[in-house]
Amino acid sequence: MNNGGEDHKGNAVNNMKWSVKVARIFGIDIEVHATFLLILALGAFQWGGEYGAPGAVFGMLLMLLLFACVVLHELGHSIVAKILGLPVRQILLLPIGGVSKLEKNPERPVHEFLIAVTGPIINLIIATILLLSTGASKWIGSLNARGLVDGQPMKPSGEALLLWIIAANISLAIFNMIPAFPLDGGRVFRSLLAMFIGFPRATRFASALGQLIAIGVGLFGILSGNLLLTLIALFIFLEAGHERAEEQARTVLTTLRVGDVYNKYALTLAPGDQVSQVVDYLLTSYQPDFAVVQGTRLLGVVTRNDVLKALAAETQDVYVAGIMEREVLSAEGSMPLDDVRRLMQGKGTRIAAVYDGEKYLGLISLDDIAEAILVSAYVKNQEMRRAAEASSQF
Ligand SMILES: [Zn+2]
Repeated sequence: MNNGGEDHKGNAVNNMKWSVKVARIFGIDIEVHATFLLILALGAFQWGGEYGAPGAVFGMLLMLLLFACVVLHELGHSIVAKILGLPVRQILLLPIGGVSKLEKNPERPVHEFLIAVTGPIINLIIATILLLSTGASKWIGSLNARGLVDGQPMKPSGEALLLWIIAANISLAIFNMIPAFPLDGGRVFRSLLAMFIGFPRATRFASALGQLIAIGVGLFGILSGNLLLTLIALFIFLEAGHERAEEQARTVLTTLRVGDVYNKYALTLAPGDQVSQVVDYLLTSYQPDFAVVQGTRLLGVVTRNDVLKALAAETQDVYVAGIMEREVLSAEGSMPLDDVRRLMQGKGTRIAAVYDGEKYLGLISLDDIAEAILVSAYVKNQEMRRAAEASSQF
């Protein structure tokens, strides 16, 4: 459908209201959601309360560095996606983390695996580089003894900053690798499963596991009075449910077959029926085409046009067998809808007979197909757009 472009424009407008583009790296727009300011305020508040104005500045600096690490994490996802031929719409930074929005879903499980795993790996690489290059690994052991790690915000210092960033990157890697959809770990899990059982079933398993973990984390959050953890668990639980519903919608639409669309309840004619009978049908039903069948065998098709021609030419009632078209294009019920449409257009006919092997099932017309495509396009606009947006966020 050619309104895809408009959808994207619409989204850009939507996001623009609440997010600001701060950079463009490797052709990928990086946008920050307005609510991200809350995180800066939180940092300022936490350290400012303990150490005054210098503390507030230090707190904001920490949050900005955390922000930079999240951007690098998302760039990891996005750059791998681009290398694999999946265009990246943008990276959006929210208070609860970042999302890389891809234009479409990875079609191969190995692609999803590589995209998902790169984010956490980037954080581990940052942590490792900082640990090794600064000698931090040597003095971290003595931190507790010096009272730097006691649950309070650390006293602003170079050491505290370094330690905080290392800890933040390790936390980002560990948290994201929890195998709970839609976290990276859940995507890694789904992609591994999908290699063996396909995306639809893998999604069901992965989202069920995601919801199970979310319930566990949520209960822990409630019992320990950790509001943030409870909210994150709720978010994971809902997102996992969305992912499952959208994967189902996608599966239905991409597997729309002729056998699903032909009219199963159509009126049929016997060869001995008369044209006046068909006129009755035409006047009392909306059906334009009638199959002429003997038992379960298709003999031909009588269309509204055939009837009108017969009425104009004949002075007396005739049998439908005399006016029916005997050459009818046949299509297998398992054929994708679009293939049959192309076949019909190629043969210059608007009707095809649908078969299941030797067994005649019914007729399908270009109008039926157009209607089915219209309906699925509508559903696509609703469900598929959401599917494309939600499922392609890392
Ligand atoms: Zn990620």
